[in-house]
Amino acid sequence: CGIVAYVGHREAHDVIIKGLKRLEYRGYDSAGIALLNGGLNVYKKKGKVSELEEYVKGIELSSTIGIGHTRWATHGEPNDINAHPHYSHSKNLAIIHNGIIENYSSLKQELLNKGHEFHSETDSEVFIHFIEDIQVNNNCSLDEAVRLALTKVVGAYAIVIMSKDNPDQLIAARKGSPLVIGVGKDEFFLASDATPIIEYTNEVVYLNEHEIAVIDGGELKIKNTQDVPLTPYIQTLDMEL
Ligand code: GLU
Repeated sequence: CGIVAYVGHREAHDVIIKGLKRLEYRGYDSAGIALLNGGLNVYKKKGKVSELEEYVKGIELSSTIGIGHTRWATHGEPNDINAHPHYSHSKNLAIIHNGIIENYSSLKQELLNKGHEFHSETDSEVFIHFIEDIQVNNNCSLDEAVRLALTKVVGAYAIVIMSKDNPDQLIAARKGSPLVIGVGKDEFFLASDATPIIEYTNEVVYLNEHEIAVIDGGELKIKNTQDVPLTPYIQTLDMEL
């Protein structure tokens, strides 16, 4: 239900936990965070963001990239395993997802036939396995795999994907669920609305329907699912917390 992601030079977990708290008003049943620090590490818990905070206390969380989520369950009961982020089969990719993938059960069956194993009951875990399967089969870049996947999934989504192989990259997309990109100095924020972003920067890009944002190496590129490159429209927000 709530998305916060960060890449830059700050401690990602600080930005993300604080941001998730700002999104609490949206309602949720569990919370989680994934960071790249000596591997792709995911921490998730049923309950409040403060319980997640308690759970990760004492764990080394230092990382300049991460994704975080508050979940409002649609597929699978609220529990630690169904909480986001979810991993791909290889555990190289992590996703946070708001929304619903309507054709997830047929996709899941296809992937099960190919030997994929699933840990949760969510549509979102299927989504990231599907993206990985496309990347492997097409031997293409991750952003191209995301684009191809989006031409095949039916439903609503705001997603952010992070890869173990690239600590400078976040890929985001939306259809039917909101997503805002905060553009700072050599740093980027992604969130469901501007409230987690505004204390760091007031320069934002509202991602439009069917658009994919690729943040890589300090650069933001936007294209649509038809693979047409678009110029990011940066707005200056006049907003105070
Ligand atoms: N459909 C997903 C799930 O049940 C995402 C729910 C949400 O938007 O939080 O895990």
